[in-house]
This record gives sequence, C-alpha cells and structure tokens, in this order.
Amino acid sequence: MKELLELRVNYKYAHLLFKEDEGVNLGNPVRGYTIKVVKIDTSSSLFAEVEKVSKSVYEKYGECFFYGWEYQRKYSSKELHDAPLFKMTVRKYFEPSGEECGTEYDDNCACKLCGSGRKQISPLRIHKGRFLNKRDVATTLADEIVVSKRFVEVIRENDIKGISFSPVFFGKQESEDCFQLMVEGNRLKVDERTKFGGEPFEVVQDEENTQYISPCPNGDHLGLNLLSEVYVKYSPIINQYDFFISQQTFGVKNDGGPNRPLLRPHHILFCSPKLYRTIQENHLRGFNFEVAHIVD
Ligand SMILES: [Zn+2]
Repeated sequence: MKELLELRVNYKYAHLLFKEDEGVNLGNPVRGYTIKVVKIDTSSSLFAEVEKVSKSVYEKYGECFFYGWEYQRKYSSKELHDAPLFKMTVRKYFEPSGEECGTEYDDNCACKLCGSGRKQISPLRIHKGRFLNKRDVATTLADEIVVSKRFVEVIRENDIKGISFSPVFFGKQESEDCFQLMVEGNRLKVDERTKFGGEPFEVVQDEENTQYISPCPNGDHLGLNLLSEVYVKYSPIINQYDFFISQQTFGVKNDGGPNRPLLRPHHILFCSPKLYRTIQENHLRGFNFEVAHIVD
C-alpha cells in the first residue's frame, strides 16, 4: 500500500517547503495564487518536514500551513485480491439532509454527548436533485445514503447478504429511481489500532469541533476524523455476511442553521470481497474502497 497525503497548502508559506512549479497552484496568477495542492508520500522524509513547518508557521504567525487534507491509499492488485474485508466510502455528498426535509428521527436513544445511536422512524424524505447523476450512490452530511435502482437490482441478483434498502420520498412522491441504503445491520467493532483525531499532525486544533476530536466517554464515538486505515476486531459474522457498519461512529453532531450544514456522526461501511467484486464487475459508481484489517 502506498499512502499519499494530499494537502491544500497556504500559498503564502508554500515556499518554505515547495518549489514554485511543484504541485498545482490555485487562484489568480495575476492577483496571486492562494493554494498549492501537493501530494506527499507519508513514508518519505518530506512528510516529517511538513509536520515541522506546519508547527513553526502556526507558532510564529498563528496561521495554518495547509487548509485541507485527504489521505489517498493505493493498493497493488495482489493486496486487493488478498484483502479479507474492505472499507467503503461514499464519494458524493449532498444537501440538505433528510432531517431538514421532514425525515423523522427518535433522539431518545441517542448519546447525549455525541449524538450517536439515534433511530430513523420515518421513510427518508429528501429534495429531488441530481445527486445520483452518473453515479450509483450519494450521501447526505447526516449519514443518509441513497443508491440507484440499478444498485439495488445488482445486489439482489447476486445474493448479497446483510444489506437492506428502504423507499425514498421526494415530498409525498415515492421515488422509483432511488432507494435508501440503510445504515443498520451487522456491526463490526473498530479496533484501537485505528487512528482518529483532528488533523494529520494535530498542530492546529479545530476549535469549533474540539469536543469531537477525542473519543466520546460513552465509547460510541471515536473522534473527529479518520487518520489511518481501519482495523476491526474479528467476529464470526465476517464470514456470514457481505455488508457491515462500524459499531462506533466518528465526526460531528451539529444541528445546522443559517449557512451551516446539519451534520451527524457517520458509521464506517465495510464489505466482503464478494460485494467488492460485485460492485467492480457491474461498474457501480460512487464508492472508494480501502483494505480493512481484521485483528484478534
Ligand atoms: Zn457518545
């Protein structure tokens, strides 16, 4: 596995580590660039340099060396062939969430601290939109996942176990083209080897979301962002089903408001090699996959 960290570096300080023609400069070439996008191999010495510079820029100027970041993990065909389990991520996010469109939830069973564990008690209601344009899956920022009709058909034709779907409503109208992929069913426990936190180097604290950076004292929420590959505890159900969700969640609970999106903690999705291959062979679009590790 080759792990790259894509960084959106603050152009003002990019010269401290990168040459002018390195990466991709974004912004206006006349008025000045604002961002430099670079990809860094996390096993390289440059990676440690980024941490150092990031710290010194923050200490000296109180500014961020980089704004956005994303891990990208690339696997060999052998690693993909041998993987016992995969983590699935939905690439496309859309708003507004179901809750903002009238989907009902029971929050009585939810954790008072992190918001994990609430129950959806009505069909998913969302606004009609182009979120499934040329793809088979998309999700709201509140962990409500919508899939195409074709996705449901392929899953049924291939006898995939442990996955369920429900109708989606646009207002009062039941959709014929999309369905909710229910984030429920068999759960796998995320092992503590999996790294969560605020950002890759923990230099700049996300002040707005401080309470979500550390795990919830109730044990149902692991942190703000996922920072590594995922490790799950072995369970015999891994050999019986094809789709799983993590027992614990991660991310932010935020009730939204003017210019602020409604956010809810997310579960991690996992699939068996069979479901991974079914999605690939049928060219179902919209998921990213990573190898997930099973530990005792
Ligand atoms: Zn909690």
